[in-house]
Amino acid sequence: MMHLAFLVLLCLPVCSAYPLSGAAKEEDSNRDLAQQYLEKYYNLEKDVKQFRRKDSNLIVKKIQGMQKFLGLEVTGKLDTDTLEVMRKPRCGVPDVGHFSSFPGMPKWRKTHLTYRIVNHTPDLPRDAVDSAIEKALKVWEEVTPLTFSRLYEGEADIMISFAVKEHGDFYSFDGPGHSLAHAYPPGPGLYGDIHFDDDEKWTEDASGTNLFLVAAHELGHSLGLFHSANTEALMYPLYNSFTELAQFRLSQDDVNGIQSLYGDFPEPLVPTKSVPSGSEVPAKCDPALSFDAISTLRGEYLFFKDRYFWRRSHWNPEPEFHLISAFWPSLPSYLDAAYEVNSRDTVFIFKGNEFWAIRGNEVQAGYPRGIHTLGFPSTIRKIDAAVSDKEKKKTYFFAEDKYWRFDENSQSMEQGFPRLIADDFPGVEPKVDAVLQAFGFFYFFSGSSQFEFDPNARMVTHILKSNSWLHC
Ligand SMILES: [Zn+2]
Ligand SMILES: [Zn+2]
Repeated sequence: MMHLAFLVLLCLPVCSAYPLSGAAKEEDSNRDLAQQYLEKYYNLEKDVKQFRRKDSNLIVKKIQGMQKFLGLEVTGKLDTDTLEVMRKPRCGVPDVGHFSSFPGMPKWRKTHLTYRIVNHTPDLPRDAVDSAIEKALKVWEEVTPLTFSRLYEGEADIMISFAVKEHGDFYSFDGPGHSLAHAYPPGPGLYGDIHFDDDEKWTEDASGTNLFLVAAHELGHSLGLFHSANTEALMYPLYNSFTELAQFRLSQDDVNGIQSLYGDFPEPLVPTKSVPSGSEVPAKCDPALSFDAISTLRGEYLFFKDRYFWRRSHWNPEPEFHLISAFWPSLPSYLDAAYEVNSRDTVFIFKGNEFWAIRGNEVQAGYPRGIHTLGFPSTIRKIDAAVSDKEKKKTYFFAEDKYWRFDENSQSMEQGFPRLIADDFPGVEPKVDAVLQAFGFFYFFSGSSQFEFDPNARMVTHILKSNSWLHC
């Protein structure tokens, strides 16, 4: 160590007499880039000397912090991946250490907010800017009780403007690339406001910087969200130009974040008619009760039977009973299977050789589709049950004594299926009516019996009555 320091000292006056080599210049500019990046987004104190001391613990820690947050390999070094990410376009709001030192979680104390588009970018027609902002507001409106209305003059809660370089706050923009926009957390005055860097080329599609995507992200900040380290999240700090715009959806991480501040969408399901009475109506406590299909929906459980379903939430053990048609008039009754894909906020409903997709109480356009589009062989005319494993992102389809597995990430049926239910779910009656995942178990429903299956131990741990969920 001593020798090394001595050598470096000796070398310095000599080396500095010559112009810097290309490699040394590059190393210098990389260090400047990293210094600025860590100062701006990771709360590194503005002290250039720190970076010159090569093994500075603080710098290594900051680099590690950045690598960890952005999902890079944690090396503590300015490796190629790290430098590449530092050059990517991103949100101007820091990842750690915030614009404000507000204690706790800032949020709006009201659910109706106003916004104003103060000026427009010359990159796009005015209508295109307005509709990108409206679409971005809708993203958050759909999952919270929040509503927005537009003001054309005066002070709105969320003032939206385009600006370049120095623009009246302490956070100058930096020309094309790098920082794209920033927004302030909820509060009066400047708080809640959004600034877009008008040195970017704002576009409606992905050819430049997509205004809708950046606006939706910045609105997250205006509503009180910080950056997420989840690379799938809208609130991840890097601009992701690869996002399929037509299929844009909030990740579960974003939904959980915003709902922790403002709560759920108010009563997403509202029935339009009440249940008739009569002998054909199933009774929840009938010991012979079986189900057609079971699914979760936004944290609730739905148990389908004939033309009806019971709806049970975690906080209310007493289930509600409704007609299927009261919520989704175009859905059939006597269903075969149902499951929810949380990350897409969608429930898929199966009957015969067709399936439907629903979000809240809306049946999605383009459905029903044929079940064979999912990759089933033509010999399969219907399925009996389905369940989607929320952690592993795999959906299981059960038909007679076999099952298939579908990968939600690649949206394709997996190789090596079908397999026999009896081989992989020993103890479960092979004729499955419905399956539910809860508390780390799979619950297989077969007639009036229910098998609690532990996927880790690969065994049935309990046998229950099918209606044990209905508070009988
Ligand atoms: Zn951001
Ligand atoms: Zn600003």
